Amino acid sequence: MAMFSHIQAAPADPILGLGEAFKADTRANKINLGIGVYKDAKGQTPIVKAIKEAETRLLAEENTKNYLTIDGRADFNKQTQALLFGETAEIITSGRAKTAQSLGGTGALRIAAEFVKRQTNAKNVWISTPTWPNHNAIFNAVGMNIKEYRYYNKETKALDWDNLIADLSKAEEGDVVLLHGCCHNPTGIDPTPEQWETLAKMSAEKGWLPLFDFAYQGFANGLEEDAFGLRTFAKNHRELLVSSSFSKNFGLYNERVGAFTLVADNAEVANNAFSHVKTIIRVLYSNPSSHGASAVATVLADDKLRADWIAELAEMRDRIKSMRTKFVQLLKEKGATQNFDFIIAQNGMFSFSGLTPEQVDRLKEEFGIYIVRSGRINVAGITDDNIDRLCECIVQVL
Ligand code: PLP
Repeated sequence: MAMFSHIQAAPADPILGLGEAFKADTRANKINLGIGVYKDAKGQTPIVKAIKEAETRLLAEENTKNYLTIDGRADFNKQTQALLFGETAEIITSGRAKTAQSLGGTGALRIAAEFVKRQTNAKNVWISTPTWPNHNAIFNAVGMNIKEYRYYNKETKALDWDNLIADLSKAEEGDVVLLHGCCHNPTGIDPTPEQWETLAKMSAEKGWLPLFDFAYQGFANGLEEDAFGLRTFAKNHRELLVSSSFSKNFGLYNERVGAFTLVADNAEVANNAFSHVKTIIRVLYSNPSSHGASAVATVLADDKLRADWIAELAEMRDRIKSMRTKFVQLLKEKGATQNFDFIIAQNGMFSFSGLTPEQVDRLKEEFGIYIVRSGRINVAGITDDNIDRLCECIVQVL
């Protein structure tokens, strides 16, 4: 009996599928503003210099390819906690935080979802709408009940604060609330410090379990600044979960470097809970790969490499910010009558442009410009070489 012949093709991933279509496009002047990958002024995604140096050292010094432990490199995990909470945070010194190296942020989110489903009484997970589509897919995969909270106001092109609060008021004690640590994907709009304080207080009062997805630390305003939301929650909560990704801020996309962090009321509870995290990892992929996390650990342990990395991260952040300003100016110059100023204030790689799915389709078909159908633009894909044509084409479809 044929076991596979009844199987229908799965729909292409909305973001990765776009990359495949871009590759297949033979037009020389095509522009890819789809997937969230940083590109420099020349349109390249280079290896971060401090990582390259760390890799050179690793190549010379590494003397074994023996397995890592289930939770990965201890030094990397410790450094991850310091980036999240600050070097001397009580959460770290008390042993309340436990971290496992993971396969990128996606791997960390899957560990989080499995842990919540198997080890807690959480009934629902609250996810912003819109969000990175994989959030829904990951929590669906473990059979969690998903609820949505409104995040974006199409009219004002800003945070839909009142509706966000109205929706989250319905979250019950023990529900998981997924928050983007900074650089909300896809909108680029983050809560203000006051709004973070309000949310953290509300969360503590209601007894939610916060899950921070921290995929862009350093891309909004700086490593420390971007941790404000998480650290505000950490002050108010005894328990929380964090998924870290080092794909973007270390440029380690294909090395799959991330971390899952669990914070509990005390070290004993943390250790007990973490033993189940290890069980989850053991049956998912046994233990993580070494190379990328070793490079990160090498950079973070060396003052010079660390400083070089922080400087290069600032360069990436500043280039994206300057492209935002140029993009808005040039759209005006090319004749756009609608106001795009809101793009300047957005954080991180993405801009929620307000382009409609029909406009996005026309940009792809007529001009070879690839944008996610939600209107999300990867601003890091804009360069001095493509910005003129990009703005001219956008104005034509407005
Ligand atoms: N979370 C968000 C919001 C993201 O945008 C991404 C990547 O695009 C991830 C998580 C996953 O990152 P990684 O590539 O490290 O799995």
